[in-house]
Amino acid sequence: MSNLIKGETGEWEVVIGLEIHAQVVSNAKLFSGAATAFGAEPNTQVSFVDAGFPGMLPVINRFCVEQAIKTGLGIEGKVNETSVFDRKNYFYADLPQGYQISQYQQPIVSGGTVQLDMKDGSTRKIGVTRLHLEQDAGKSLHDQHPSQSYIDLNRSGVALMEIVSEPEMRSAEEAGAYIKKLRSILRYLGTCDGNMEEGSLRCDCNVSVRKPGAAFGTRTETKNVNSVRYVMQAIEYEARRQIEVIEGGGEIKQETRLFDPNKGTTRPMRSKEHAHDYRYFPDPDLLPLELDPKWIADLKNGLPELPDARKARYVADYKLTPYDAGVLVAEQETAQFYETVAKGRDPKLAANWVTTELFGALNRTGKAIQDSPVTARALGGLIDLISDGTISGRIAKEVFEAMVETGKEAAAIVEEKGLRQVSDTGAIEKAIDEVMAKNQDKVAEYRAGKDKLLGFFVGQTMKATGGKANPAMLNDLLKKKLAG
Ligand code: ADP
Ligand code: MG
Repeated sequence: MSNLIKGETGEWEVVIGLEIHAQVVSNAKLFSGAATAFGAEPNTQVSFVDAGFPGMLPVINRFCVEQAIKTGLGIEGKVNETSVFDRKNYFYADLPQGYQISQYQQPIVSGGTVQLDMKDGSTRKIGVTRLHLEQDAGKSLHDQHPSQSYIDLNRSGVALMEIVSEPEMRSAEEAGAYIKKLRSILRYLGTCDGNMEEGSLRCDCNVSVRKPGAAFGTRTETKNVNSVRYVMQAIEYEARRQIEVIEGGGEIKQETRLFDPNKGTTRPMRSKEHAHDYRYFPDPDLLPLELDPKWIADLKNGLPELPDARKARYVADYKLTPYDAGVLVAEQETAQFYETVAKGRDPKLAANWVTTELFGALNRTGKAIQDSPVTARALGGLIDLISDGTISGRIAKEVFEAMVETGKEAAAIVEEKGLRQVSDTGAIEKAIDEVMAKNQDKVAEYRAGKDKLLGFFVGQTMKATGGKANPAMLNDLLKKKLAG
């Protein structure tokens, strides 16, 4: 599959690098004890440090550091035993300190990898350049008053991990897969809840285009895109816009842009600022961050099994396709559900039921798997009834629908509705005889060589048994009887 985009002057390659801001799961902020809960009344979770009062001193939150270390290890990065906090100076109304405490030349994590799982089952590794810790800013509210802006400092000082990728993605699909995998890893680690609607995960999309093999083109950076779909839309739009500009004889300006979710377009926000604009210098209020190697080693030993490892295990032990395995491990809750269903059962059958019927039902009812109307144990019970021949796979779908609606166990529904599969030779033969008696002309045609009519007889007999005949037995008996 080619990722190239056709333009007037031939094919273009898109080059993408993502900067992800992931809010650290922590009850307190990066340098203060103020709370971080989402949705609190404005300005109720603000300490003097977060409000930038003179003379206040930041104190590093050990737990936030631990979360960053775990994330660095989870993406196979190098955790640096020494890192430095810098002041990134800029003026903005919702930044009361007049600077953001961030990390610049010595981040807490260098390097790393995120493996993309593509739809066709292939995988590709994307390099992570760095992960650093920094403070979030406050929030300006422009829609509360006709002529004034309000400021909410609840978010001011909340710990963020900025995770910067290498410019190694080549399509919107790859960018989407990158965010999904990174989010999955963060959630497995419990270091960021990955909730993009609430702003816990935000993405800056750096995009440029070039002719294949040429040097990188000038990039634009579309800021704070907050859903996977929007990221993909913004990249598609930006790539096509840039191609048009260049082919029209223009030049791409290095600038910061904004995504408009209603139109699916991007527009200029400001010309790109450079590192020197920020006058970075080490924060004199904070010592370099020195990590005990034993602490790092202990955290490494305590890491949970992560999505890639779990996926590999599913492929090896359960013989699932890489694609199905990837789908099942993406969320821990789904993986846990699946493992409960698969235990002691045919793992492929279990995977099919989870990824098709169950996912379908959850989609229709808008429920998360944690609130599934059919529990893992109940779904396992249904699969057992298929495996032991009590019901056919076809009837099982009907039973499943009833389970979704009523929350009852499969066995109870089968009894109630009399859906037990008929495996009694006499009963099936009787149905066949009736169908043949009613369709003597077709029996004659079949015997004269029109084999295709077998399907007709299977259908009619199945109908006569209310869909309950054991399909394999029905086929055998029907062929014998039709042969005469
Ligand atoms: P800054 O901090 O000014 O935004 P960086 O050098 O840290 O600049 O790069 C930011 C992001 O831009 C990284 O994710 C990087 O991969 C990406 N990037 C750099 N050059 C290009 C390019 N030519 N096209 C697309 N993305 C790029
Ligand atoms: Mg940037």
